[in-house]
Amino acid sequence: MPIFEYQCRACEQRFETLVRHGEQPQCPECHGDQLEKLLSAPTIGSGLPDTACGNAPSPMCGGGGCGGCQ
Ligand SMILES: [Zn+2]
Repeated sequence: MPIFEYQCRACEQRFETLVRHGEQPQCPECHGDQLEKLLSAPTIGSGLPDTACGNAPSPMCGGGGCGGCQ
């Protein structure tokens, strides 16, 4: 499932969220829905080798969240 990055136009909060088809994300800070969709580099399916921890490629890796990053 794709993760999109948004920035709230009201309070400028930046956040990442999973967006299911047909759902409108809300700002976690002010619950506004005036959101700017940011074009961040995809973290899933980039095809690049995982260099963050050297383990098998994981979509969570890179932020220390894959369990192999120390
Ligand atoms: Zn906001």
